[in-house]
Amino acid sequence: MTNKKSDAAPPSSLKPDLHHQDEPGHEHSHDHDHSHLDETAIRVRSLQSLLVAKGYIDPAALNEIIDTYETQVGPRNGAQVVAKAWSDPKYLAWLKQDASAAINSLGFSGRQGEHMVVVENTPDVHNIVVCTLCSCYPWPVLGLPPSWYKSAPYRSRVVEDPVSVLKEFGVTLPNHKSISVWDSTAEVRYLVIPERPIGTEHFTQEQLQDLVTRDSMIGTGLALVPGNPPLNPVSV
Ligand code: FE
Repeated sequence: MTNKKSDAAPPSSLKPDLHHQDEPGHEHSHDHDHSHLDETAIRVRSLQSLLVAKGYIDPAALNEIIDTYETQVGPRNGAQVVAKAWSDPKYLAWLKQDASAAINSLGFSGRQGEHMVVVENTPDVHNIVVCTLCSCYPWPVLGLPPSWYKSAPYRSRVVEDPVSVLKEFGVTLPNHKSISVWDSTAEVRYLVIPERPIGTEHFTQEQLQDLVTRDSMIGTGLALVPGNPPLNPVSV
């Protein structure tokens, strides 16, 4: 089994389609606004402008929500959950029985995290999370989803061929290991508890947290092995 930290480096084939203005050689004979935003961003901005103009949303409140999830909430929260689960068998049992309550006890709760389920990786089973319909994701413990998580290639291919998708993330599992793919919905959000790396028996929870990557909690990565620096050391 190999592991490569790939948190900020989505495999090229899983990258979402970008606006065609970025394609070299693309002929621009038609007349449109050459914005640097991609098509989705333009649509979102248009919708936001309309909702603000009609008084349905408050731009200040919207900015506060975005700031919260970009700067205050993120995968470090999930890493605390995993490190505690690795260190405390009673907490792990609680997580398996009632993940929402166990996660809430660490202060992580809120939108998109109301109905949590944890799935634990074992020597025989590897778990991967996807939302085949859209981009459901446990915000309170992982922050905002990476772009590849929302991309159509990831959402379809991870169901059909998880082995090759994992390979693109730098993860190769032993042949005997089975893979379970969990489809998030508006009702249930999943958090993967990766396998605890060997050689960490005497690690404190703080030290363990540093080994837990975002991708390892989605299932597209593994926890880092101490003393074995990631091949692609890009921060989340
Ligand atoms: Fe969704």
